[in-house]
Amino acid sequence: MNGISIFMYHQVGHFESMATHRAVYCDVNRFRAQMRYLKLIGATVLSMSEASDLLRFGAPIPPRAAVLTFDDGCENFYEHALPVLQDFGYPAIVYAIAGLAGGRGEWLAADGLPVPELMSYARLRQIADLGIEIGSHSRHHLRLGELPAAQATAELRDSKRQLEEVLGRAVPHVCYPYGSHTLDTVLAAAEVGYTSGVTCQRAAATAAFDPLALPRKAISFGDNVVGFAWKLHAKNAPKGTAIKRTAFA
Ligand SMILES: [Zn+2]
Repeated sequence: MNGISIFMYHQVGHFESMATHRAVYCDVNRFRAQMRYLKLIGATVLSMSEASDLLRFGAPIPPRAAVLTFDDGCENFYEHALPVLQDFGYPAIVYAIAGLAGGRGEWLAADGLPVPELMSYARLRQIADLGIEIGSHSRHHLRLGELPAAQATAELRDSKRQLEEVLGRAVPHVCYPYGSHTLDTVLAAAEVGYTSGVTCQRAAATAAFDPLALPRKAISFGDNVVGFAWKLHAKNAPKGTAIKRTAFA
């Protein structure tokens, strides 16, 4: 069974070399080389909506299928990642934090990392008009799996509503901050109307996964084209059991 490599990026740009938190950063030249590699091998880069439909309806998945996801909605997506995506004509999804758009990624300060600027709603509308999908990354970037149920549900529901209102588009895709989710989180995401959800578990996404708990493959600062190629082709059975509702439509 072919899987879909849902790649996870956060920030793209020019960064100093680092020893920790490497999964948060991708050098823009490396990013371009990774996209060139996808082009070279004839990979099928799908939008999240296309991938989600293929997985949910059990349709055949093309070989070397990939999705490009960008967490947090940093302004450096617009500055550095978007021009590369446009050069290659690749779709992508940005998971924006509804309550922090136009602000700063203050939560990174706790790890001693620079605090990035987050795209404003005007910017999110602009990139949506250019064909970039906007998903929800909750309202306040909290660990949903550790919140009281009502609060987690509100984070999922209110972020969806707010993004839909401001963008004037449906927001059917969600990304759980820090990958934190439980079965209750997944049930709540379904309840408020999401049709896809992504985690930080590492594996290729197949129809065997719950559509609201799809695994991804994190791209690290150290990933040159060889590392990237290895991740693309790896099946990576997830560690532990992936969360799955007993029945889902
Ligand atoms: Zn995040």
